[in-house]
Amino acid sequence: LMQLSVPLNFIGFVYREIRQAVVDIEQMFDLLDVPQEVQDRPGAKPLAVTEGVVRFEDVHFSYDANRRILRGISFEVPAGQTVAIVGPSGAGKSTISRLLFRFYDVGEGRVTIDGQDVREVTQESLRAAIGMVPQDTVLFNDTIAYNIRYGRTSASMDEIKEAADRAQIADFIARLPDGYNSMVGERGLKLSGGEKQRVAIARTILKAPPILILDEATSALDTQTEQSIQAALDVVSRGRTTIVIAHRLSTVINADQIIVLRDGLIAERGTHAELLALDGLYASMWMRQREASEAEERLRLARETD
Ligand code: ADP
Ligand code: MG
Repeated sequence: LMQLSVPLNFIGFVYREIRQAVVDIEQMFDLLDVPQEVQDRPGAKPLAVTEGVVRFEDVHFSYDANRRILRGISFEVPAGQTVAIVGPSGAGKSTISRLLFRFYDVGEGRVTIDGQDVREVTQESLRAAIGMVPQDTVLFNDTIAYNIRYGRTSASMDEIKEAADRAQIADFIARLPDGYNSMVGERGLKLSGGEKQRVAIARTILKAPPILILDEATSALDTQTEQSIQAALDVVSRGRTTIVIAHRLSTVINADQIIVLRDGLIAERGTHAELLALDGLYASMWMRQREASEAEERLRLARETD
């Protein structure tokens, strides 16, 4: 009986390890909202990124037949520039990022990178060219080094540390009992939302992709954490074609162009100054957010003087 129980325990151990790996992958697919039906076309070629120009051309999209989500979206992100997409929740902002990553195929129109339709290139090459910092980062049940290295598996420890430094998470890691070898995720250290975001940013810095999507990367954070992460994000996006999806408008003031999405249509577009002058939807969102943050600030000051 003794002889039998050892291998059985071992099998149980291996089984649990394998099962956990499967759960990790499933979690990632859940997180990225990936339908598995999108496939490479026969003979699909790798994407060749020459400049990094992203274009949406009259894009229509529905998740299901009875509700249209995007109803004719056209915009261009010139190479190295930043376009921000703002608008009410449910407007279709994240859907735009999913179509660029080709988690779904457009209904009508097309999405191109340097003139190549994303449906014509291999998914592997497409995803290698795009770095995504999602709203909710799920970490793997592995070391913090593994979680950062995931951005580029060939990276050296020095490169990992440099990326962590630039993402402003290096000091935090230095204070962990096992440093970069500390286990994180469900079976290890629980990181806060802001810490997880910074791991995701470090991962993206390491990946150094020509195209970046930041989907409300700082929305769940307090103002101070947000500001320090914003600084890290500004560093990553410098010189890269960037789409920033933002809830807080304070983070998009410097974008080359701001697109205001409403009900699956572009309601307004322009720079921050142009949109304020337009005195439309963006301007009213801006006023509302400014009043809210001023009220928050007054509350904070009142608490401090108590
Ligand atoms: P935003 O990012 O602007 O808040 P999304 O692009 O995530 O909006 O979603 C746009 C609309 O599509 C929402 O009404 C949302 O409920 C719906 N939606 C998002 N994902 C799915 C999905 N996988 N299946 C069906 N509907 C979805
Ligand atoms: Mg969204």
